[in-house]
Amino acid sequence: GRGAETLTTASTCCYCGVGCGVLIEHDGERILGVSGDPVHPANFGKLCSKGASLHLTGDLDARALYPELRLGKGLGRTRTDWDTALEHAADVFARTIREHGPNSVAFYISGQLLTEDYYAFNKLARALVGTNNIDSNSRLCMSSAVVGYKRSLGADAPPCSYEDIEQADTLLIIGSNMAYAHPILFRRLEAAKAGNPQMKVIVVDPRRTDTCDVADLHLAIAPGSDVALLHGVLYLLLAQGRIDHAFIAAHTEGFEALQALVADYGPTSVAELCAISEADLRRCADWIGRSPRFLSLWCMGVNQSTAGTAKNAAIINLHLATGQIGKVGSGPFSLTGQPNAMGGRETGSLSNLLPGHREVANPEHRAEVAAYWGVDALPQTPGLSAIELFEAVGNGTIKALWIACTNPAQSMPDQQRIHQALSDCPFVVVQEAFFTTETCRYADLLLPAASWGEKEGTVTNSERRVSRVRRAVPAPGEARADWSITCDFARRLEARLPGVPSGHFAFDNPEQLFEEYKVLTRARDLDLCGLGYTLLETRGPQQWPFPEGALNGTPRLYGDGHFPSANGRARFIAETYQPAREQRDRHFPLTLNTGRLRDQWHGMSRTGTAPRLFAHVEEPLLDLHPQDMAQRHLQDGQLVEVRSRRGALVVRVQADDSLQPGQAFLPMHWGDRFLKGLGINALTLPAFDPLSKQPELKHAGIDVQPV
Ligand code: SF4
Repeated sequence: GRGAETLTTASTCCYCGVGCGVLIEHDGERILGVSGDPVHPANFGKLCSKGASLHLTGDLDARALYPELRLGKGLGRTRTDWDTALEHAADVFARTIREHGPNSVAFYISGQLLTEDYYAFNKLARALVGTNNIDSNSRLCMSSAVVGYKRSLGADAPPCSYEDIEQADTLLIIGSNMAYAHPILFRRLEAAKAGNPQMKVIVVDPRRTDTCDVADLHLAIAPGSDVALLHGVLYLLLAQGRIDHAFIAAHTEGFEALQALVADYGPTSVAELCAISEADLRRCADWIGRSPRFLSLWCMGVNQSTAGTAKNAAIINLHLATGQIGKVGSGPFSLTGQPNAMGGRETGSLSNLLPGHREVANPEHRAEVAAYWGVDALPQTPGLSAIELFEAVGNGTIKALWIACTNPAQSMPDQQRIHQALSDCPFVVVQEAFFTTETCRYADLLLPAASWGEKEGTVTNSERRVSRVRRAVPAPGEARADWSITCDFARRLEARLPGVPSGHFAFDNPEQLFEEYKVLTRARDLDLCGLGYTLLETRGPQQWPFPEGALNGTPRLYGDGHFPSANGRARFIAETYQPAREQRDRHFPLTLNTGRLRDQWHGMSRTGTAPRLFAHVEEPLLDLHPQDMAQRHLQDGQLVEVRSRRGALVVRVQADDSLQPGQAFLPMHWGDRFLKGLGINALTLPAFDPLSKQPELKHAGIDVQPV
């Protein structure tokens, strides 16, 4: 600590997947300030505007402080005690399971949860309830990258490290405004480029974002045309003989099929389809082809798409074809959106996964986990993914829904349907730190959760680095840590379900959960068995795999050319370009893109409480190209109605020539509690990628009219 009264607790930022180390200054009761942790390897002391304002957020006026319950839909919730709240929840869940079977209940959780919380929820859903209906908002965030890595490389593991950004000489940033979404990584990139003027940065984005400030080449491709672009680059690499045939022969399979496919992606037609110049396309391929160290970075612009998995595959194809993987400064590096989406993937927190990067669909995997948990079998019926799960809530198949640490009433596409589903669901439990979120409105039972600075556990960041999250101050009111709420509920449910052995949730602290969980990673690609709270305390954050007895973590994967697939080879995936699901037409003549602002996080439950974070952008503005403004006789600041096939809302409009004509942009953060009418996602559509089930949040047809 600094002085007699001011104490310092090292923790990790709760916002993005960079996973910066934060020193919390506090007096044991209140958080007084924050600073960057100078020894944390993600940020070396730096924080972005969001991280640096952490102590100003989490306003007590917005916090859920006590359990609240209502016994009928028309009634208001009233304060109750934890015992009554959890007994009631266990009664309703047990009755629903008895009467309608285990798949009549579901859990919808979050990339903001800690690894220990996730593990508790997984065990609860799969071992105790016997359902795979447990999905996470990571479905909206990283699920296309998960499928991308698994299909091409054999395991869900980004093979790179942040230091590769400093070592690369050509960087392809595609579908990521990392200047806003991953600011501290972006600063590392800026510093690296300043120190190495030879470094080439290519940014692929329909908009000229602030990330383009470092770009030597900005390819403003037509929205959704990424796969055509990437195949077009491969076509040119092949034509110029810039392919690593030895690597392909020794370590991959499927190249012939891909080669045959990309023969159709010649530069003239690709440039036209992507709406870029052929010269720029050739320059892009040239820089990648000549680069000794080629790194690509991507995020939601790639993942949130009905072609999300094809886009991921097409990026990885370029790395396999050039042998640019497993080496310093090279590789396909997806940036994780949320602070612990990675931990969620590790613990099996998507409906199709099981802990330790296992699959529900794999009988051996189910048997391994069942044996470890001491239950006869795990359910084999596939679980529902986010969009399907809320559809099942809407049509009455799911009758009891437990939501933790996420705000689907704001963040899911086709918002009106989600609101209807939540309002019709017989029993909705919301476990949440902020009672102000749109979803809390639909809670029959609201359970107050501890938030950042108030709870202990671990998170894994984009570079597979496990960091400790630590408690500095007590949670306000009667709020409790998420893992503790989950385990308390599970113990009460154990007592009510016939034939279920008890004693599975006797955890007293999160460290016990971590110790139990990590055994399920033994000998898997993400082996964490050498890690523990003590090691993380003494040696700091570590990158997995970190097997028992290891001296160090693993900064880079696949350096030996061996991949974690069945035959040890990586796989080229050959898929044709498919346009986005909803194209603009006569009635909806503009293409809407959504994305982040620099100073806000997700649905603003936390950042929305700090006035300072509204200084950058005060309200959601619809950006339109000046030409589209003029055509509609619109002035800057004018109120407009934005309409899609699914809903409408009213916002102000502003001219923005960083967009191409025919395109529109809205920030993703504002829900209906801030806006007249519905939130941003009233406009977006629930179409999803067939493999990852990730919805296309970044692409919808809209119309704009003055109000
Ligand atoms: Fe937090 Fe991300 Fe900013 Fe780092 S870059 S301080 S993790 S929001």
